[in-house]
Amino acid sequence: MAATISTTNIQDVKDLTKIERIGAHSHIRGLGLDDALEPRQTSQGMVGQTKARKAAGIILEMIKEGKIAGRAILMAGAPGTGKTAIALGMAQSLGADVPFTMLAASEIFSLEMSKTEALTQAFRKSIGVRIKEETELIEGEVVEIQVERSATGTNTTGKLTLKTTEMETVYDLGQKMIDALGKEKVMAGDVITIDKASGKITKLGRSFARARDFDAMGPETRFVQCPEGELQKRKEAVHTVTLHEIDVINSRTQGFLALFSGDIGEIKSEVRDQINQKVIEWREEGKAEIVPGVLFIDEVHMLDIECFSFLNRALEDDMAPIVIMASNRGITRIRGTKYTSPHGIPIDLLDRLLIISTEPYSEKEIRQILSIRCEEEDVEITEDAKDILTKIGMETSLRYAIHLITTANLVARKRKAVEVDVEDVRRVYSLFLDEKRSVQYLKEFQNQYMFNEITDKSSINP
Ligand code: ATP
Repeated sequence: MAATISTTNIQDVKDLTKIERIGAHSHIRGLGLDDALEPRQTSQGMVGQTKARKAAGIILEMIKEGKIAGRAILMAGAPGTGKTAIALGMAQSLGADVPFTMLAASEIFSLEMSKTEALTQAFRKSIGVRIKEETELIEGEVVEIQVERSATGTNTTGKLTLKTTEMETVYDLGQKMIDALGKEKVMAGDVITIDKASGKITKLGRSFARARDFDAMGPETRFVQCPEGELQKRKEAVHTVTLHEIDVINSRTQGFLALFSGDIGEIKSEVRDQINQKVIEWREEGKAEIVPGVLFIDEVHMLDIECFSFLNRALEDDMAPIVIMASNRGITRIRGTKYTSPHGIPIDLLDRLLIISTEPYSEKEIRQILSIRCEEEDVEITEDAKDILTKIGMETSLRYAIHLITTANLVARKRKAVEVDVEDVRRVYSLFLDEKRSVQYLKEFQNQYMFNEITDKSSINP
């Protein structure tokens, strides 16, 4: 028997990865665009970076249309310029059932599966299948509809029983009864007569027709009696699952429990082929819709040449999601080769990407982002302390300044202050080094470290 494609009971485990890195970006609630897709200077937790946000909004429209598969976008810009924040803003603005998967490129090297399998799984996690279930069986155990050729008299000529394995037939018959009676439901004991040739209802009633009536109707007519219990009016229930979830549930070696344990392993390509075929069938029959979602690959320069060639091919598939990559690298070596290329991405792949670049923030924007983060973390802060924090943000990095908010708040609480003040920021600034001071420190004390390779000319960053 062909493997049946099962999609049950997995709503609860949907996409745990979605919330993984939300901490640093919890203030981001969307892209902050107005109805005409124009970015508001500050909105939904987003500040500045207007060009990139507008571009992201256009991509979002493309995704919402749902018809374009396999586009790839690159977000390129210096560290801390909001590439991840924008991708998450997009995720927030997608419909609730549009899948969004986030992956740091280096993750695929640490999973216990081949790189291409890890990428395939990421792709399939990003494709939703919206399944429409048109009927609902209530009273759970209604299992049969009996069709009798005669109820009384001497001419008992036969009896047909439809079981749940013929669910659709059962539903269809029940549905005809419901439609014909114009009722919300059909009760046990309701009887209708369906003309076999036309499928039309010819008679309705609460009791069985007499054998005499039956005989008069000839063999083309059959009686249908509603089963024990009741069939309810057709309800349209829509579930969205990802292709990956369907894969796991139908993978014979793993079974659906793997969705909980995360112990998924590799999935056979035959299983996937079969599922693709089935999903396409469902689509053609109008039972399912394919929802291309978003796959966000951070630090894309960490992928190697094999992964890039896989991406090139996978993007051609008509069931591919929209792939958004992000990189903060300039011209660098393509992993697995001796060649260099912009962002460490091979030119042929680069050529098919739409590139969105992010720009460094102005002082005013950094101050605004820090204010939003203070609110988000429920931290009261004086204007002077905010000025210093902004200055630190400009001179070191936005991320470092954001980190200081929490730590300065702890120090302020320790001295029983209700607001973070300049002295608290100063204190944590001296306790925790930023990247530049850390490098400086290493250079000064390099002799005390093991395996030291720093020369005056080299820098910590590759
Ligand atoms: P990297 O290249 O290092 O991965 P990135 O460009 O992805 O950096 P983010 O992680 O998005 O940078 O930004 C750093 C922090 O600043 C995050 O907490 C992010 O939410 C916040 N942030 C960045 N840009 C904005 C913005 N325009 N509005 C509000 N918050 C922002």
